[in-house]
Amino acid sequence: MNRIIVFFALLITPILSRAWTDGLAAERPFKIAKGYDHPQVALTLDLCMNRIDHRIFDLLISQKIPATLFVTGLWLRKNSDIVEKIRAYPELFEIGNHGANHIPPIDDRNTVYGIKTAGGFWHICEEIIGGMRAIEQAHLAFLQPSRWYRGATALYSRNAITIIGKLGFCIAGFSVNADEGASLPADEVIRRMKTAKDGDVIIAHMNQPLRASGKGVAEGIMFLKQRGYSFVKLSDAATLTTCRTKILYKSCAEIVKDQKNS
Ligand SMILES: [Zn+2]
Repeated sequence: MNRIIVFFALLITPILSRAWTDGLAAERPFKIAKGYDHPQVALTLDLCMNRIDHRIFDLLISQKIPATLFVTGLWLRKNSDIVEKIRAYPELFEIGNHGANHIPPIDDRNTVYGIKTAGGFWHICEEIIGGMRAIEQAHLAFLQPSRWYRGATALYSRNAITIIGKLGFCIAGFSVNADEGASLPADEVIRRMKTAKDGDVIIAHMNQPLRASGKGVAEGIMFLKQRGYSFVKLSDAATLTTCRTKILYKSCAEIVKDQKNS
């Protein structure tokens, strides 16, 4: 009997520990610690390119809702006015790295979802380090030095996972996909956000002011707040299993050299 249980455990474990789809690792569902006396969720908002969605951003400030913002170098360069505002609220915002130019950190195929990938080991590394430098140059790194990285498209090749780890970043996953890249109608976004449970990590977008999704995100936030949920930044409630890497290398040259020697 025990042998049968062990057999099935071995069979299931690899599937649970990492979700590989067609050779690419998708962000596995991951969660933060549960709240002590009331449920808590982490709101993670991507700022890939374009502008800011004031329906969400203004609400975060007026309602004092903490969030982890995943910014690209591309977005930072175009939105210096908003960057200045973010800088004024270090208690609310944590900054995560979404890459230099919103390029999927993938090197074993040319495109994914129709988007051109980094296409090589060096380019993946440059995309990640470039995102980190852009955050530093925007003077946002001091808010709360963040080691979170989320790649464009949220898919990673095997080499990308190696590089991310060596640079000391943790892959920022999620457990509730609220807006599917800001592509969903507001009602569906609200429905998804209402399913959030204690310890969930919500992903949504705050860079598409002209799309309907943003209205749903804002209403979903208010629904959870009124239900007594509290919002935390990822780092404030990360557990050992969500993030436990340390910086091994500080440059792409070092990583490439190490890779050749191994
Ligand atoms: Zn993005």
